[in-house]
Amino acid sequence: MTGRGILAISLTALVVSSGVLIPSGAQAQTPTETITVFRGARLIRGDGSPPIDNAAFVVRGDRFVAVGANRDVATPTGAITVDLPGKTVMPALIDAHSHIGYMKGLTSGPENYTREHILDHMYRFAYHGVAASQAMGSDFGVMPFELRDEILAGKYPDAARFLTAGRGLAPPDEISPDNMRHAAYVVTTEEGARANVRELKYWRVGLIKFWLTNRNGQVRPLAPNLYEAIIDEAHKNGMRVMVHATEPENAKAALRAGVDVLGHMVEGVDEELLQLLRERPDTVVLLAQVGRRTIHAPYLDPPEPLPLETVTPAQIARLRDTIASTSPAALERAQANWDRTASDIMKLHRAGVRIGIGSDGGGQGGDRFIGFTAHTELENMVAAGMSPADAIVAGTRNGAEVLGLGDELGTVAAGKSADFIVLNANPLDAITNSRKIDRVYLRGQEVDRARLRATWAAEMAR
Ligand SMILES: [Zn+2]
Repeated sequence: MTGRGILAISLTALVVSSGVLIPSGAQAQTPTETITVFRGARLIRGDGSPPIDNAAFVVRGDRFVAVGANRDVATPTGAITVDLPGKTVMPALIDAHSHIGYMKGLTSGPENYTREHILDHMYRFAYHGVAASQAMGSDFGVMPFELRDEILAGKYPDAARFLTAGRGLAPPDEISPDNMRHAAYVVTTEEGARANVRELKYWRVGLIKFWLTNRNGQVRPLAPNLYEAIIDEAHKNGMRVMVHATEPENAKAALRAGVDVLGHMVEGVDEELLQLLRERPDTVVLLAQVGRRTIHAPYLDPPEPLPLETVTPAQIARLRDTIASTSPAALERAQANWDRTASDIMKLHRAGVRIGIGSDGGGQGGDRFIGFTAHTELENMVAAGMSPADAIVAGTRNGAEVLGLGDELGTVAAGKSADFIVLNANPLDAITNSRKIDRVYLRGQEVDRARLRATWAAEMAR
C-alpha cells in the first residue's frame, strides 16, 4: 500500500497560507499512512545550518515528522527503513520565476500552451527535484487556475506544484501577439489596473507580476500612478507583487512604490539600490542570470544525463550552435556582462539581501530548459562567489518564502511537506553535484522518474 491515496484530498481541504493555496496537512492523518525512516545520508537542511553527516529523518504520510542525527532518531512502530549510505539529501528546489507551458522542442509560443503541456512541464520540474514553480505573468484563461488547484490537492503525485501569477500587467507597448506578454492585462488607467488586480484576487493569486522596463527605449513604461495603483490594490487585498525591472532606475522606483520581489537581477547595483534594499529586508531579488548561458554551457560538453533525458537532440544542437557561432567580440561582451553581474550579485549578497532562484526557465530568450535551469542558477551563484551552502539556501528556503510557502516547503524540518532530493554526490563539495540526482520525493512520495524518462524517450524517438 503506498501513501498516495491519502493525497487525493478534496479541494475543500485547501487552506490559505500567506495568500497561496496549499493542501491541508491535517488531512494526511488516515490509517493508510506510510511511515518511512531514511537513514545514513548526509543531510543539508536548507536553512544554512551545517550538514548532519550521518542523519536520519522520518516521513509520515506527506510530512517530515522527525529530523536529526542517526543515533537520535528512533524508528516508529511499523515504519519502513530506507538506508542511504553515501548519499546526500537536500530540500527540493523552488523556482520562483518561470514561464510554463510555452517551450516545446524548438518552438516557444502560445500555440503550445495547453493543459497537457503545462502538466508536462510540472513533471519536468519534479524530475529535476524542483518542488514548486511559479509562472510569472504568462498564463491566461481559467484552465491554469483549475490545474493549479488539482496539482496542489495531490491529483498528480509526480508533478511539482504549479503556482501562477495569472496574467501579468503591462503597458500597451509590451504586448505582441506572438510573445508571452500577449497574456498580460493592458494597463492604461488606475481604475483598470485596480480591477485587474481584484480579478487576480478572485482567482486566489498570491503573487502578481508587472513589467516596468524601457527595453532600450523601445517601450514606454508604466507611469508611476499606474504601478503605484497596482501595488496598492495588491497589498490591500493581501497579495504580494513582483516586478520585471532590469534597469536600476526602474528597480529603484518599484522599490520606493513598495514592490515585494525583483524578478530579475538589476543591471548595475549601486549604493542607492543597496540602501533601498537594506531598508526593505523582506524584499527578495531573483537572479535569472541568463547572461552566463550565452558564454558557455559546459553541461553540453559532453551532455549531462539530465539534458539528455529531457531535452530533444535538436534543442541541444541549437544551443550548441548558438554558442559556437557567437563571435569573439560578442563573447567578450558577454563575459564582461557576466563579470559585472557577478560582482553585483556579491554586492547584494554581502549587504544581506535575500536572494532566490527565479530561472526565467521556459521563457522566450532561448534554450532555458525547464527544471534544469534551476540547477544552473545554483551554479551561477557559486560562480559569482556565493558559497554552495548559501546558494542552496537561496534555491530552497528563500524561494519557498517568495511563493508564500515558507511554512510548507524549502527546508527539511519536522512539520513540513516531505519534498527532498537524494543525491549521489555532495553539492557542498561542488554545486554541480545538485544535478547528480538519485531520487526525488515530493509530498512524501518518490517521483516515478523512470516512467517520466520513458515517456520523454518515446516522444523523442517519434
Ligand atoms: Zn520572465
